[in-house]
Order: sequence, then C-alpha cells, then structure tokens
Amino acid sequence: MKCRICGMEMKLIDIIENCVEGHVYFGEKPYQLPTKKVELYQCETCGHAQIDNLIEDTYYDVYECRDENTTAYYAYTENIYDERLKKLQSLNGGKSLLDIGCGTGDLLSCAQKYYDKCVGVEPSSSEYAVAKERGYKVTNSYFDDSFNMDEKFDAFTCNMVFEHLENPATVLHAANRILNRGGAGLINIPDGEMIIRKGLYHQFLTEHINYYSLCSISKLVQDCGFSIQSIERDSKLLELNVFVCKNNELKNISEIISDHRNMLLSMIKECHNIVLWGAGTKAASYSFLIKGIPVSGIVDSDEKKEGKYVSGINHPVEKVSRERILCSDTIIILASSYNKEILVQIEEMGYTGKIIYFDNETNMPDMKIMNA
Ligand SMILES: [Zn+2]
Repeated sequence: MKCRICGMEMKLIDIIENCVEGHVYFGEKPYQLPTKKVELYQCETCGHAQIDNLIEDTYYDVYECRDENTTAYYAYTENIYDERLKKLQSLNGGKSLLDIGCGTGDLLSCAQKYYDKCVGVEPSSSEYAVAKERGYKVTNSYFDDSFNMDEKFDAFTCNMVFEHLENPATVLHAANRILNRGGAGLINIPDGEMIIRKGLYHQFLTEHINYYSLCSISKLVQDCGFSIQSIERDSKLLELNVFVCKNNELKNISEIISDHRNMLLSMIKECHNIVLWGAGTKAASYSFLIKGIPVSGIVDSDEKKEGKYVSGINHPVEKVSRERILCSDTIIILASSYNKEILVQIEEMGYTGKIIYFDNETNMPDMKIMNA
C-alpha cells in the first residue's frame, strides 16, 4: 500500500479483527454494529497510518453523524468550537468563514459570533437538510476540484473530515483556492499518532481511513500551499487542531513594479510640485515607477552630480537647497539606502508637505506627511 500523504510504500503494522462499521446509536431494539477485518499500514517516511478505503463512493451522500451525540456532548463541543474559532479569527481578523463538511451546522452556529459571513458545504443530503432548516447558508456538495464557488473567504474550517478522505490533498488545494490572500484555516483531525502508539482500539472505525502523525499532517498542509501556524494536541479528545495560513503567491517582477507604481500614483494624486531627492543608482530603477509623472526636478547632496543627468529622468541634477525643498509640495526620496538621514534633513529645513520614500528592503512605496 502507498502512503496517501507522501506516496512511499507502507508497512503492515497490525490487523484489526473487529473494526466497527457505522456509528453507535441509541437503538429501539438490541443491535450489533457490523465489523470488518482491516489491515493497518504505516509509512516509515512520514509516520502516516492508514487502512484500505472500504467505503462505497455514495457513502457520504446520505451520511448521518448525529445519533451518537448526547446533550452533554453538544454543550462540550460548543465550548471547544468557541475557543478554536476565537483563535482562528485572531490569526487574520477575518470576516468570512467557510466550513467544509459542516454537517448539521453546529460549528457554523458558533462561528457567527466571530464571523460576519458563515457558509457551509456538506455532501450528505440529510445533514445538509438539517443545516438548511436551521437557517444556515449551506451548499449540498462534495468539496474538491469540481466545486465552483464565486465568493472567497478569509478563513476555512474542516472539522473531522480529513480522516475520511482517500485524497485529502484535493480538498486542501480547493480550500487554498477559495481563500483570500492572507487567509487562515483550522483543520481538526483525530490524533492518529497517539491512537496508534497507545493502541486505542475504540478509535478505529472503517470510515476513518487515515491516522495522521504530526509529520504527515504537516507535510499535507505544506504541500497544499499553507504554512503551519500551530498544532495543538487535545489529549482529552485525542484530536489535533492544526492552524494554518495560506502562503502568498510569489509575484513576478513586472507585477511587483506595476503594484508599486499604482501605489505611488495613488499617493501623488493632487500633488503639483514634485521634487525627486537622490541621483544614485537606485534612481534609475525607480525612474520606471515615475515614468510619465510630471516632476519639477531632482536634487542630490553630492555636488559632483550637479548639472548631470540620471537614466530615465529628464532634469539635470540640482544641489540640495532649503529654498528648492520648501517650494515643493511633494518630495520623493529615490536614495532608499539613506531614507532616515534624508528624512532628518528635510525635517530640519522646516518642510511641510508630503514625503514619499521606498522601503529599502522591499522597494514598497510609503509616505509621511510633515505638518507645520
Ligand atoms: Zn508517508
């Protein structure tokens, strides 16, 4: 058997004779849940453990996960949901949340305290119907590549889902796609490592086909474009809470230049007399950003540059003088290695107006307004 997480060949570590199928419920008559013999495999590379997927394709179409739950359990989970959601919300201050595999909507009910917009996706038609009846915005669907949703979200939750999935990466990739930039997520799964290490036979179910290790869940989320914010081990519930953040897509150079130019353009709206400061090597690079913007001149403290030109700027370099600076309403500092020193000089001249400068590490434009 191949590992569902890293693809390596796995090793048979145990055979479970009576692995329970289905959920415990409170029956009207005596009953016995069916059991199956399953082989438990473990990956020596990532520590992931798994059993064969014996579940039929349509199993989750009519899945119901309610009967086992008692009133006390509901009260307890509401408390836990509350703690987890509070933490998730604090990761990025998000306003919208998608709950993947929302069931009857218990988590959505709690999430409304923290998110303005809460939406759920649920494959089981019966669980979906209950969630809908309770008034939640839910779609009856599996959540994978084929799932189409126009809106994006600041956060997602996926509670007790990944242990059921033959291909968890598909769901996680889809989760990455529906998240806004800077989005966060919470994945909650049984603590497979602990279950196996302690031989906790009551935790084995035929529908739980994955038993994650810290390493396998970390690899899975990282492979799907997330970084791990934290993993919390809940030893009472034998669960892992994995808080993740979406990695930013790397932009190419022309996209970065275009972003920075747009930022700059919005900063110089309403500016009439723009003076550039700094005729160094960086001035030539920044000249691409200011192309087409009318400037009244460029100054530099190095007297040797006076009267000379810098690539891309059609004004001869002038020496720095208080008069030249004070007559402008905007100064753009091009010598970003000397931002601090130049800002002090400008302030000492008693300048009142806008100063725009480029972050020395990221080139991102920023501005400062000097008041009288
Ligand atoms: Zn593996």
